[in-house]
Amino acid sequence: MKELAFIKRSNERHWVGDGFPVRSIFSYQDIAEEMSPFLLMDHAGPANFPATSHQLGVGQHPHRGFETVTIVYEGGVSHRDSSGGGGTIGPGDVQWMTAASGLIHEEYHSPAFARTGGAFEMVQLWVNLPAKEKMTAPGYQGITADEIPRVALPEGAGEARIIAGQLGDTRGPARTFTPMNVWDMRLKAHHRVTLELPEGHTTALFVLKGAIRLGNRHPVRTAELAVMERRGSQLVIDVEEDTKLLLLNGAPLDEPIVGHGPFVMNTQEEIVQAINDYNSGRFGQIGR
Ligand code: MN
Repeated sequence: MKELAFIKRSNERHWVGDGFPVRSIFSYQDIAEEMSPFLLMDHAGPANFPATSHQLGVGQHPHRGFETVTIVYEGGVSHRDSSGGGGTIGPGDVQWMTAASGLIHEEYHSPAFARTGGAFEMVQLWVNLPAKEKMTAPGYQGITADEIPRVALPEGAGEARIIAGQLGDTRGPARTFTPMNVWDMRLKAHHRVTLELPEGHTTALFVLKGAIRLGNRHPVRTAELAVMERRGSQLVIDVEEDTKLLLLNGAPLDEPIVGHGPFVMNTQEEIVQAINDYNSGRFGQIGR
């Protein structure tokens, strides 16, 4: 059975632009090796926004060397990037953006959400790319809720939406560069859920809302991240309250990480190159 390695609690909140009040759940600046291939995760909301005359959010900024995965729970997000990617995603939808060699993008509340306001909640996850893929061409996967298969857990214990990876015979739609599972899970109180995951891979559970217990001992509550040991393949979750959680599981990359703001590479030289390339306009521009 997989044992708990540690729990990370996050209390600090900050704003990304004027549209995203986020809690930083983890970052490679604190826990890099333990979370690889995942670099960073922010939880925006839950929050309520009034109707606004313009779209709140964050304007043009670059990324290089990784992927950003945006999962919307409530509200709507619109995105455009310099590689021609773009779209609006709503509750249950996922945007899987491969920055790779570099792009410039903007992230705003959707026009419809700005008009009405209301409840807003999303997660943005940064997924690292292996060194040999960091300078590959950018890409964009807009994944709608109806494309994400749901797997009912045994004995009415809830369900898993398979965004990436595989549970039993069910495969998620996201194309990834390295093996990983990203599952949006809803678990029912007073059930035990047992999952089989690849031995040696990183495994972490982020509780968006609810309460679980791991190995029948360690409580994990709202806004907490539980990072598991890599050994063992069986993950046992005892669900104490109805719980919404995100399961992250993936093969660690075991490569050096050097990051600077929106760039995450393997060496300092590559960071300097990224800054130079961005400053000389080589990341392109967002079309009109
Ligand atoms: Mn961004």
